[in-house]
Amino acid sequence: MFEESTAIIMANNSIEKIGDIKCNSYVRCEDGSDSRVTSVAKATQTVYEIVQRTKHRANEGEPGRSDPLRKKVFQRIQLKCTAAHELNLMVPIKATIENSFKRQKYSVRWTQFEKFQTLDGRVIMIPKNHHKDFPMDSDGEKAAKLMKDDLNLLYGNRFIFNLQLRDLDYLDGQTRAAVSLRYCPILTGNGILSEFLTGQPHLITSATLSMAWLLGLWLGDGTTKEPEITVDSFDQTLMESLKEQGYLWGLYPYYKDEAVPLRAKHVRLYYGAGPSNKRKVRNLRRDNPFWNTVKGLKFKREDDGHKQLPEFMWNEDVEIREAFLAGLIDADGYVLKEKRADKTYVVTIQTIYHSIMEGVVNIARSLGMWATVTTRSARTSTIIGRQVTCQFTYDISISGTTPLQSVLAYCRSGHKRREAPKHVSREPIYFKFTEKVIGQSNVVGLTIENHKQNILLANKVAARVCTEICDKDQPKISITKNLKHCIACPRTGVRYFYRDWTGNHRVCARCYCRYKFSGYRCLNCKYIPEAREVKKAKIKGEKLGNTNNGELVRGLDCNRCGGILTFDEIRGTRHHRVNTLN
Ligand SMILES: [Zn+2]
Ligand SMILES: [Zn+2]
Ligand SMILES: [Zn+2]
Repeated sequence: MFEESTAIIMANNSIEKIGDIKCNSYVRCEDGSDSRVTSVAKATQTVYEIVQRTKHRANEGEPGRSDPLRKKVFQRIQLKCTAAHELNLMVPIKATIENSFKRQKYSVRWTQFEKFQTLDGRVIMIPKNHHKDFPMDSDGEKAAKLMKDDLNLLYGNRFIFNLQLRDLDYLDGQTRAAVSLRYCPILTGNGILSEFLTGQPHLITSATLSMAWLLGLWLGDGTTKEPEITVDSFDQTLMESLKEQGYLWGLYPYYKDEAVPLRAKHVRLYYGAGPSNKRKVRNLRRDNPFWNTVKGLKFKREDDGHKQLPEFMWNEDVEIREAFLAGLIDADGYVLKEKRADKTYVVTIQTIYHSIMEGVVNIARSLGMWATVTTRSARTSTIIGRQVTCQFTYDISISGTTPLQSVLAYCRSGHKRREAPKHVSREPIYFKFTEKVIGQSNVVGLTIENHKQNILLANKVAARVCTEICDKDQPKISITKNLKHCIACPRTGVRYFYRDWTGNHRVCARCYCRYKFSGYRCLNCKYIPEAREVKKAKIKGEKLGNTNNGELVRGLDCNRCGGILTFDEIRGTRHHRVNTLN
């Protein structure tokens, strides 16, 4: 069962809270089909939160401490479900050969599924790692290769299986670190923009696409009070395209230069006769099809007139989503040089609007790309002698292969445009995750007619529907032997943890490296300062303070808690890696 506020994608591409879904309504399935909801159950159960594992360091270091806004990691994929709910997981099981020179052996390693009895007596199937040794000679090498190829032929590269959330702890450390959930590209759309413009949904023509592109461009670089877009006049292809795309809707871009012409032109999109004609026959805000769309589909918030990315765009038709995103990239995006080896494109988009950040991430994911968000604090800086205030900014990073290339093919700005790919392959995207208990909460469970299919959550995660065992709160009695906590920072995880200075606790790899390098740690809060923090503390000088046991000590100041930093001359002679390979 899912926590009651979990959002689900319905058959008509709208998004609904699971708590509001009625029996006999239709939900969207992972394969794009629709399925009827056959039962809805409500209960109160213990809820666990599954969170995508990312490299964000929001809780550590100075940024998070100096700006509380930056503590939050935005748009990290998460879901809340109960202990007995099944997760549809992927585990890579490709067989490999390892050379063990120490033992003079070739070792073939593979994963296979086996029955396993849980502590409460259920028998489940879980992946187990195996290996077989061959002598390190030419015969042994041949035999090892043969076995590896046979295994790969038999089992393949990856395996998808179902596992109840509470059974994740039965996986060994290596497997637990490797299992992934996935989110899926959405290939159908609601066709709302087309319906608004032409009266007919799903009409993909150059006219509807150009409107989507214009909307993206305006959301990025437009003025909120009128159809005006700031365009870099050095970017001639962009200016030309604005004319071409506008023409399809009877829009004429026009700008007046200042006394000293600026590089950035404020281009107004007039509707009506061309710019040479008299003012009387052209409109800026009235009857302007572009401005009507902006207002009619709420790209401008009604209460305060701020720009926003309306939610319906998340689930528009694929081509509309692409053209729209291309417009935003033309305005606010930066295209990094692509990696030639695997044809991966990376684009960053900056925005100060929360709803644009949210929308861009969702649209990118719905097209089959990666998207993550980092933040920047509000600040004032001086650019060419002028004081400039920059607001709190979201930096969205999007990466992908052909799906992103296909978006860049819609871009009009000269240096952002890329050739269209011959074929766009949209695959599910796998992500690793951690789980933790949240507490009692209202939960809702669904079953659907086509029970073999997965349903899609609003964040596009493929999720199982309920089984009979979901009805009751099932105990999670396994021991969480895999999850480790860093005593120096809030990090938890299953891999890359080391023993601390006492040998009794664990520290994460990051804290461990800092400690090994500098040797400083706080006696009070156990924080391990960064090199620059130690430097600052040294400038401030030593002071007197108390340890947790009340002893009076002298040392540098901990800038996190005001306690005393101690310096360890000897920090262990060898790495004490905590064994995770059981
Ligand atoms: Zn369930
Ligand atoms: Zn740590
Ligand atoms: Zn401290």
